[in-house]
Amino acid sequence: MAYPAFARFVNAWNAPVKLAAALFWSAVFSSSLLAGVQKPPLPGNCSTEAAARRHPVCENVLFHGSRETHDIALTFDACPRKKVDAFSVRIVQYLKKEKIPATFFVSGTWAESCPECLRQLEDEPLFEIGLHGYSHKRSTGLSEEEIGDEIEKNRMALRRLGADPQPLFRPPYGDNPFALSEAARRTGVTSVMWDIGPDDPDPHHTPKFLEKVVLDWAKGGSIVVMHVNGGGVWTADALPFIVDALKEKGFTFVTVSGLMSANLPGGSIPVASLNVKPQAASAKK
Ligand SMILES: [Zn+2]
Repeated sequence: MAYPAFARFVNAWNAPVKLAAALFWSAVFSSSLLAGVQKPPLPGNCSTEAAARRHPVCENVLFHGSRETHDIALTFDACPRKKVDAFSVRIVQYLKKEKIPATFFVSGTWAESCPECLRQLEDEPLFEIGLHGYSHKRSTGLSEEEIGDEIEKNRMALRRLGADPQPLFRPPYGDNPFALSEAARRTGVTSVMWDIGPDDPDPHHTPKFLEKVVLDWAKGGSIVVMHVNGGGVWTADALPFIVDALKEKGFTFVTVSGLMSANLPGGSIPVASLNVKPQAASAKK
């Protein structure tokens, strides 16, 4: 019967195919690690530094500060979550204890679900609060006006709860279409992306993995994105190791505003890396 011969052929053919598949997926995996960011780039927007450099409309988007400094900014997003106690209080306690400045991008609905959490961030002079959209909508598909409303509603909600947010906006999901850049300009905020995203909501990562990604990619002026809303599975465990290792490498922790003001005025910061808005850099904490 012909079947055994065919099976032998398939088996013989299978090995190189499996090897090729393994090589392909390991290449995909390692290139996604190498990218150092969480989301693949989308066409026609300001979501990556390379894309932003090509489009003048993206000039008010920050990916990192000056590479000439040893400054680094730890940032934590507070996206809305269904869980009631969606707050990583260990992260906040650790940063306070170690006196590490940090920037928290707070969505309106998260703050409304836990005004006490917002107060803990607002009360610490080393921390600054930025905006993360009122309801954390993805910007692609929204008009400039709708995005502007999300930003303004976010700002008003935080002010109503006693916070004084900086004119800094972290686009939900890192989604930064041209309309967002226009809306950011109109509402007077700088759109703050990042150059290091250890993808801390992924439960398959480990504290060691988070530490490795941050350490491998840390440069002067880097902005690291993590989560404070309980979404960062290992963030609180990894943070002390990340902080110690960065200190050992000579980095100094600053807020995003600190990163920006360190380069005022007329620093040699490329467009789409740091377009300093004096009112943002000099605005009070
Ligand atoms: Zn978010």
